[in-house]
Amino acid sequence: MEPSPPPQTVTQPPPTVSQVESQVMQKKKTWRDRAGKAGAGVAVAAGATKVAGAGKLVGLLKGVWLFAHFKTAFTMLLSVVGYAIFYGWWFAIGFVLLIFVHEIGHVIVLRFQGVKASAPMFVPFLGAFVKIEGEQRSVAQEAASALAGPIAGVVGTIAVLAAAQSSGSPLLTALAYSGFLINLFNLFPVLPLDGGRVAGALHPAIWIAGLVGAAVFLILRPNPILIFVLIMGGIETYRRWKDRKAGRTSAFFDVPASTRWAIGAAYLATAALCLYGMEYTYVPHHW
Ligand SMILES: [Zn+2]
Repeated sequence: MEPSPPPQTVTQPPPTVSQVESQVMQKKKTWRDRAGKAGAGVAVAAGATKVAGAGKLVGLLKGVWLFAHFKTAFTMLLSVVGYAIFYGWWFAIGFVLLIFVHEIGHVIVLRFQGVKASAPMFVPFLGAFVKIEGEQRSVAQEAASALAGPIAGVVGTIAVLAAAQSSGSPLLTALAYSGFLINLFNLFPVLPLDGGRVAGALHPAIWIAGLVGAAVFLILRPNPILIFVLIMGGIETYRRWKDRKAGRTSAFFDVPASTRWAIGAAYLATAALCLYGMEYTYVPHHW
């Protein structure tokens, strides 16, 4: 699963390491743009940092930027090692890559929306997250960026399924099943999961239903991830409920009916694809 970032509240949170990273990433981008205009490739640009007056600063920023990406790569690697202990290397690599594809879906839409966000960070056995640093303009915008993860994840999983079909590989089939499963799990309409953030644009009462559903599921199938989701979700739901009443501008919560229908339809279609995919790739185990 993938714990999503804390919600975008009215007050600006104190700067965090991720925020610094994200600022640095933006600076690096403009620096690279300039280098691009000068017709310099990466190698030449690296050399140019020595020449430029602000070379030292650029070099420092570049270092921090690389570190941010190193953190993504490093936490990804940690996760691979973690999953490999239980499921073997190939499955672990494929699984973490599928989570990465899911996260990239969030990143692309957030970039498109011009919302500052951290690079994807992996938490072994919990998934990954992209920390949103900027402000999203509406619940509809938040829902779109939340839904982008599972949509990208499902597209990636369908590619794995196609490879599984043509190769007949049980490993790829198992991977496809897991891909559908994690994306469906993230669509569960409880905060802080993606589904909970989509629900905010549909109807906030869904949060309560999601919490109750998660609690029932926890009683039936106790597991630590669900406990984590419920604790985070309880706090998160309470905070948002209060936020709504404390009156953020109504524009933030206003969702045109057509947008609401589109979000709802995309949500249901993605969830249905996951369910169908799981059914399709399910291999009964006989021990
Ligand atoms: Zn997600």
